[in-house]
Amino acid sequence: MSWDVAVIGAGIAGLTAARRLTDRGLRCVVYEKARGPGGRCSTRRQGDTSFDHGAISFTSRSPRFQVQVEGWMARGLVAEWAHRSARADGRGRLEDRGVQRALVGTPRMSVLTRDLARDLEVVTERRVTRAQKTRRGWELDLEDGVQTIPFRALVVATPAPQAAALLPAAAAFREAVASVRCEPVHATMASFDAPLDTAYDRIDFETGPLECAVRNASKPGRSDRETWVLHSSSAWSQEHLDASQCEIACVLAAELGRVVPLGQGATQLRTHRWLLARAQAPSRAGAFWDPKLALGVCGDWLRGDEIEDAFESGHELAERAEQTLARGAPSWAMQSTR
Ligand SMILES: Cc1cc2nc3c(=O)[nH]c(=O)nc-3n(C[C@H](O)[C@H](O)[C@H](O)COP(=O)(O)OP(=O)(O)OC[C@H]3O[C@@H](n4cnc5c(N)ncnc54)[C@H](O)[C@@H]3O)c2cc1C
Repeated sequence: MSWDVAVIGAGIAGLTAARRLTDRGLRCVVYEKARGPGGRCSTRRQGDTSFDHGAISFTSRSPRFQVQVEGWMARGLVAEWAHRSARADGRGRLEDRGVQRALVGTPRMSVLTRDLARDLEVVTERRVTRAQKTRRGWELDLEDGVQTIPFRALVVATPAPQAAALLPAAAAFREAVASVRCEPVHATMASFDAPLDTAYDRIDFETGPLECAVRNASKPGRSDRETWVLHSSSAWSQEHLDASQCEIACVLAAELGRVVPLGQGATQLRTHRWLLARAQAPSRAGAFWDPKLALGVCGDWLRGDEIEDAFESGHELAERAEQTLARGAPSWAMQSTR
């Protein structure tokens, strides 16, 4: 059995590209370093509760993404999250912003990537350490010392700094990728014994260590336990990159406590550090594709910093790759497997 395309990264962008290329009859393998697909659209489970510690919610604007979202909604994988929202100023005063509406995966954000990964060949817990083009095609070195079979094409679907480290010097867009810097964000996941005494499900902070605090349990389909996700501001995270989980959690929880009484306090606090949370200045290229090298790059940072950007970038990459790959092997290309 021969394989056509290796995709590095099982986030929204990589999975969208792999799905589309698979639908066109190409055989794809997705390599992911984490334990499951998801990337920054993941959910952390703790016992019977779960926390959307990456993307909070999302919107859909482009016709293509709207079609995808309608399909998810019809299957009960996405629902509208109507939430009461406020803005906190530097003095801890809350300004009511009324009921806002956004979309969320149900019962957790990670269903989006689980669904995109359905029926695809996704190899998890395999970090790709090197990619090189030989006479036989693209060959990848994996962290455990294994080398993959050769692929006709390679798609790198990771945040820009990780992509730059994998691209060969021959790639014309390598410099453009390497020039994109990313900012960190800390996500503290907090559980409480009883609902916090506030009408708000989301509070955005104008200044200080916290950027926003979200009552995770207010999203549709979640368990009733009082859970909150606290996202730091990137500037604050940058200054506290090496602080311990415990220090970060205490500061962020205390910041929430300035605007909402925390009752008996949190029963559990955990923190995750997103080192490459978002691009400082996203490129607007959409996707990169080099037909001679059969090498491409996609990811949210090629359009913006949201789920929809990752989805659109994955499609754009696949669109360009299809044309090259179809010319190379007319016998299988462009035939839908579904
Ligand atoms: C804290 C936070 C809050 C957010 N909030 C929102 C929000 O409210 N709304 C919204 O729309 N978006 C939000 N986002 C952004 C959204 O999560 C991203 O736009 C989207 O998930 C990016 O998808 P992606 O596929 O481009 O990249 P990623 O999700 O980063 O996927 C890249 C994948 O590549 C893998 N990988 C990297 N290097 C290697 C390697 N060498 N080998 C193998 N695998 C590798 C990674 O493990 C990862 O799974 C948020 C992000 C963060 C971090």
